[in-house]
Amino acid sequence: MNLDFLKTLGLEERNAGTSTGARAYESEADYIDSYSPVDGKYIGSVSVTTKEQYETVMEKAGEAFKVWRKYTAPQRGEIVRQYGEALRKYKEPLGKLVSYEMGKSLQEGYGEVQEMIDICDFAVGLSRQLYGLTMHSERPNHRMYEQWHPFGIVGIISAFNFPVAVWSWNSMIAFVCGDVCVWKGSEKTPLCSVACQNIWKEVVEANDIPEGVGSIINGDYKVGEYMTTDKRIPLISATGSTRMGKIVAQTVAGRLGRSLLELGGNNAIIVTESSDLKVVLTGSVFGAVGTCGQRCTTTRRLIVHRSIYNTVKENMASAYTQLRIGNPLDENNHVGPLIDKDAVNMYLSALEQAVEQGGSVLVEGGVLEGEGYESGCYVKPAIVEAHNNMPIVQHETFAPILYLIPYDNLEDAIEMQNDVPQGLSSAIMTNNLREAELFLSCAGSDCGIANVNIGTSGAEIGGAFGGEKETGGGRESGSDSWKAYMRRQTNTINYGAEVPLAQGIKFDF
Ligand code: NAD
Repeated sequence: MNLDFLKTLGLEERNAGTSTGARAYESEADYIDSYSPVDGKYIGSVSVTTKEQYETVMEKAGEAFKVWRKYTAPQRGEIVRQYGEALRKYKEPLGKLVSYEMGKSLQEGYGEVQEMIDICDFAVGLSRQLYGLTMHSERPNHRMYEQWHPFGIVGIISAFNFPVAVWSWNSMIAFVCGDVCVWKGSEKTPLCSVACQNIWKEVVEANDIPEGVGSIINGDYKVGEYMTTDKRIPLISATGSTRMGKIVAQTVAGRLGRSLLELGGNNAIIVTESSDLKVVLTGSVFGAVGTCGQRCTTTRRLIVHRSIYNTVKENMASAYTQLRIGNPLDENNHVGPLIDKDAVNMYLSALEQAVEQGGSVLVEGGVLEGEGYESGCYVKPAIVEAHNNMPIVQHETFAPILYLIPYDNLEDAIEMQNDVPQGLSSAIMTNNLREAELFLSCAGSDCGIANVNIGTSGAEIGGAFGGEKETGGGRESGSDSWKAYMRRQTNTINYGAEVPLAQGIKFDF
C-alpha cells in the first residue's frame, strides 16, 4: 500500500502531535497508535493531550475569541472560504487517509471531503445571512429587535465513522458565527484530526489569525471529559453513541451548559405495495451495507408489505450475493471492513442474539479470513427476518445487519417504524401520494429525517441534520442550524423623551 498521502498531509513523523505540537511523555501509554482496519498495519501515533496541554489550548482559545469575534462575519467567511480552497487542494490525500484509517470506500472518503468543501461554501454564504428579526414595540418611540452573538468556545466531540466531515459541519458554521472551536475527534481515527488541523494551520498562518481560533485535542473519553466539565465552554456539540450522549448531556446540564447531540439511529425503510422495486433495491442495499453499516443513518430495518414480502426478500438475498467485500481503496469493492475487532465481536454477538430471540437468518453473516482479510475486520453483510419488538432489533448495532419485517397496513408499518428508542432517519418507498403524505404528516414518521423514494442514508448539507428521541434532538449543518452556535439577544431602544413602561404599568414620581 502506497502511503505517500500521509506525507502530503504532514503526517510523516511519528507522534504527529497535538495542536500545541508538544510531546509530553516518552511512554507508549500516552500515545494513541492508529492501525488501519483495511490491512491491519500501523499508520502512526498521536500523543494524548495532557491536562496541562489542555489548559494551554483553552487559554489560547479564550484569547483568540476576543480577537475573532471582532472580525466581521464576512471576514470570517473569507477565512472559511480559503479553508474550502485548501480542502479542494488536499481532497485526494485526505480522502485516501479517511478511507485507510476509517475503512470506508475511497469514493466515500472523497465524498466526505467533498462534504467538508460543501459546508465551507454554505458557511461562506451564511456569513452574510446571520439574520435577526425586528419587532414592533408596544411602546411609542421604541424600536425592538433581536440579534445573534457568538457563544465563545465551542467544544466538539466526534465519532469515528465521519472522522472529518462532522467536525467541519460544526466548526465551519461556528467559525462564521464568531465562535472559536476546540475539537476532540475519535480516538479510533486520530490521524484524520491531525490532518485537518495541519490544513487549517496553513490558512491560519497565511492570514495571521490567532492560533487558538481552531484547535484539536487528542484522546479518549477522559480527554472529552476535560471539555464536558469545563465551564469555559458554553456549548458542547457531541456526535456518537446514545450511551455517550446520555453521559455528556448530564455532565453539561450539571453546569447549565448547552449541548448539541447527534447520537445513534435505528433507521427503517417502509416498502409499500406501490413501490418501484428497482428504487427499493438500490436504496435499501446501499443504505444497509454502505460504510459497512457504520453510518448513523444506515438502514437497519426493512418493513415490507406482506403482499410483496417474498419478492423483496428474494431480490435482496440475490443482490447480497453480488456484493464484493474487500479493500475499500479498490474501487471494485462495495463493502470494506468494520473499524476494529471490538466492532466485529459486537456484530457476531448481535447475530447470535437475533437468532436466540426468534429471528431467522436469510443471508448468513460471518468473518472473512485469508488473503486480503488479514486485519480480521471484514464481515459479511447479513439479513435476518425478525420482529420489530425483539430487543436486538430495538438496539443500534453498528454493523451491516438488516432486519426484514412484514406489515399488513401502513398505519401499523408507521407505528413499527416509530416504535424504537431512536429517531434519526426514515424512508418510505411508494408511488402513492396518499401513502407518502401520511408518512410525512404529523401522524407519520417521528424522525428528524423522513424521505420518499430515497434510502435513509446520504443526507445533503443544505438541510438541518439530526434526530429525535434517543438520537438527541440536535440539528447541525444546513437550514438555520447556525442558531445553535449563537446566543440570542433582544434589544429595545427608546428614542423618545418619555419612559413608558410595557403592559401600560404606571410608575410616576
Ligand atoms: P462513541 O460514543 O463511542 O464515541 C464518540 C466520541 O465520544 C469519541 O470521540 C469518544 O472519545 C467520545 N466520548 C465517549 N464517551 C465520552 C464521555 N463520557 N465524555 C466525553 N466524550 C466521550 O461513538 P463511536 O463508536 O465513535 O461512533 C458511532 C456512534 O456514533 C453510533 O452510535 C452512530 O450512530 C453515532 N453517530 C451519530 C451521528 C449523528 O449525526 N446522529 C453521526 C455519526 C455517528
